[in-house]
Amino acid sequence: MKTETRSTCCYCGTGCGVVIESDAGRITGIRGDKAHPANFGRLCAKGAALADSARHDYRLLFPELRSERTAPRQRVSWDAALAHAVERFADTIRRHGPDSVAFYLSGQLLTEDYYVFNKLAKGLIGTNNLDTNSRLCMSSAVAGYKQTLGADAPPCAYEDIDHADLILLAGSNAAVAHPIVYRRIEDAKARNPKLRVIVIDPRRSESCAIADLHLALRPGSDIALFNAMLRVMIDEKLVDRDYLAAHTEGFAEFEASLARYTPAAAAAVTELAEEDIVLAARWFGNAGAALSLYCQGLNQSTHGTHNNAAIIHLHLATGQIGKAGAGPFSLTGQPNAMGGREVGGLANLLSAHRDLANPAHRDEVARLWGIPAIPEKPGKPAIELFRALASGEIKAVWIACTNPAQSLPNQAEVRAALANAEFVVLQEAYANTDTAAYADLMLPASSWGEKEGTVTNSERRISRVRAAVPPPGEARPDWRIAVDFARSLGARLENPHTARLFPYTCVEEVHAEHRASTRGRDLDISGLDYALIEREGPQQWPFPEGATTGRSRLYADGVFPTPSGRARFVCVEHRPVAEKPDADYPLSLLTGRLLEQWHSMSRTGTVARLFNGEDEPILKMHPCDMRHRGIESGTLVRLASRRGEVVVRVEQGEGLAKGRCWLPMHWGEQFMNGYGANALMPAATDPYSFQPELKHAAVHVETVDFPWTLAILRRVSADEALPLLARARGLLKRFPYATVGLYGRSGTLVLLRAAAYAAPADSVLDEIDSLFAMQGSESAIIYADASRGIDKKAVLRDGRLFAVRLAGESLAATWLKDAMADDSLDASLVRHALAPSVRPPSQAAVARSPVICKCAGVSEAQIVGEFARGATLAAVQETLKCGTFCGGCLPQIRELATTALPEAA
Ligand code: SF4
Repeated sequence: MKTETRSTCCYCGTGCGVVIESDAGRITGIRGDKAHPANFGRLCAKGAALADSARHDYRLLFPELRSERTAPRQRVSWDAALAHAVERFADTIRRHGPDSVAFYLSGQLLTEDYYVFNKLAKGLIGTNNLDTNSRLCMSSAVAGYKQTLGADAPPCAYEDIDHADLILLAGSNAAVAHPIVYRRIEDAKARNPKLRVIVIDPRRSESCAIADLHLALRPGSDIALFNAMLRVMIDEKLVDRDYLAAHTEGFAEFEASLARYTPAAAAAVTELAEEDIVLAARWFGNAGAALSLYCQGLNQSTHGTHNNAAIIHLHLATGQIGKAGAGPFSLTGQPNAMGGREVGGLANLLSAHRDLANPAHRDEVARLWGIPAIPEKPGKPAIELFRALASGEIKAVWIACTNPAQSLPNQAEVRAALANAEFVVLQEAYANTDTAAYADLMLPASSWGEKEGTVTNSERRISRVRAAVPPPGEARPDWRIAVDFARSLGARLENPHTARLFPYTCVEEVHAEHRASTRGRDLDISGLDYALIEREGPQQWPFPEGATTGRSRLYADGVFPTPSGRARFVCVEHRPVAEKPDADYPLSLLTGRLLEQWHSMSRTGTVARLFNGEDEPILKMHPCDMRHRGIESGTLVRLASRRGEVVVRVEQGEGLAKGRCWLPMHWGEQFMNGYGANALMPAATDPYSFQPELKHAAVHVETVDFPWTLAILRRVSADEALPLLARARGLLKRFPYATVGLYGRSGTLVLLRAAAYAAPADSVLDEIDSLFAMQGSESAIIYADASRGIDKKAVLRDGRLFAVRLAGESLAATWLKDAMADDSLDASLVRHALAPSVRPPSQAAVARSPVICKCAGVSEAQIVGEFARGATLAAVQETLKCGTFCGGCLPQIRELATTALPEAA
């Protein structure tokens, strides 16, 4: 039976509402929820592909256990899996104490999942060794808010975008990382041409498309820029002295420290033009309402906390906070980084924004949980946690819903730590992640579309996540797994409080307890239960008992949650990046995201059209840096830092200053031979937030000469794609350079690329042909030139090109993949693919129609074709779904309608 279930997108912190369409226990479609105030029906390319990613063939379906490190894991029952985990954890705790075990969780978990894990570690076991990948994402924002405003509370709402007349995007490529927020900024700018947008980013990112001013500062020099802007505002009397006097403290000392931040001095540090710094300061200082949106570019730094504080200072000094269209608004990376913070899901936090270091807070939580005490000893934040695993101080780790063997910096160190651990549990929805290789026990977890609970987005809005279908195999909800383990472990440890700590029969009871723990706190949601969200829709916190609606904006009264009620200025000074470029590593490597991919691609890497932007990791470089090294666009290079290296393809990057290069962070061992971008990053951390500097490393780049190259493109059905992708992964380590992925729109391709110093043995090509089902010659066309090591093969089926293997020389793959993806390559043109010439048959024969709608993967040719058949705009949208997700392409579609068929428009 067809059903519709309202839920929330599982990707970024925008927190878009979705409507999941399902039939007979399978997810069949997705659309944006028009009633959800975060997105009003819009979805970006990732959200729009959620239904396509809801497949079972890449999921972990059953618990798996290995008896010893070198043995393969075997399927076991849930009872056996949990009994084994209990035995290992209990034994470790008994022999080495509670701090010998640790939990490493994820901002992808729901608030309820987080809550029970927190209770399991800090309440039952008695260790604060619980940290999460939010440490890599938002911990500097937490520390920055707390140091200045007194509490971890983004004071703004998305509706402020509509009221701002200056928007400062700092360290945020929202066009790619928070696309629906960016659409809202675009709309605001279209409505109000006087709205100014300043983008602060070392690279001219996609978000600069609407920028009135782009400040391409030197990586890590944000504090120098913000301090200089404030100095200009002071000099030009643009600060609000009344607001400062009434609502802040520490400004006089801070003002004195700004003396050295003249625009000229800041220009020297930031590599910006002095007049641009002054201009930005004047625009900010004269704005009626100034809104700052910021993200990982500020957070992922060894001075991330002070980056945050410095931008917050601009708002405090000008009174641009607590009013419509104004405020410092940290965008959360993950869908529930906020929820995790709310329940104390970091090593230094406790439930409801309480601090572990505060004895009164520890007592409050102990009372709430009905236990004698919360341990005082601080837990280990992520980087330290893995170092303790390497040293043997921590012996057993429980990892849930995250992939540290790709996401943490300095992978060599992290992987050595995982290999050294005595016992690794991985609670995961996906069968294949890089971390799975280190797991002694894998526990299958429910995923998006199968879970119940809540998440909180960047604007403090709590939304329901609902199950549309049952989980596959024996997968279970994360909270349920944690509770079952906790009860058994408590019994094994003879902890008398176990039953009181974990009484839950359903997830709503977990939420009710969390809700009660917030009473009287800054995030008080004592009035917000599941029924109210059901009735009234998603709500922002605080929502205390008796309230009828959440609060969209904080600090309107100028009272801050500090002991004095005043916001604080903290002394923030420019500090260099952890690792400056030098003679050996002369380039600055910046990392970032792509619109279509999410994190380590566990989910987005299963959808072909999400590879259409980039199907391999591309290093972007400045043309001078390339010329200087004799590097040409499209060739392979070795990119190395002091911690490791990867071989990647390089292209000339638009908008990169000389000396800077850029690499997406999504690719890891599942899609390439190598650990990916984060392996190159230093594990240096901020002293307050302990967030690592994942945004910058000093690197060198050199050409690599691989005379032998390989490309394989094979059409697959929807059911064949992921199994073939999984098998092809086995080839990655056979070549010094190799990537594997999907590609396509109406049809799907599996695409393997490789390169080597010499041609492999014929048997290797036979093995590859067999793996890609290209054996047998009855319908194959072959071109071979042994003297040049070239061996090419095209296999036809039903008159269509089914698969191509280009060995020895593979440049034709560049145009061939598009031709095959569009099904626009006639079999008679196949000879062009195999010929020694790399030229395509003709531009017209294989020219790929540009993709107009990235969300639905719809090309211009498809849209024009529908209009040519006489379809109206509405009918085209209904048929192709183009323009129905984020809406960003609608102007282009209307233009096509006007050109193709004026009456359709
Ligand atoms: Fe999901 Fe995209 Fe919305 Fe983020 S912006 S929540 S990824 S649909």
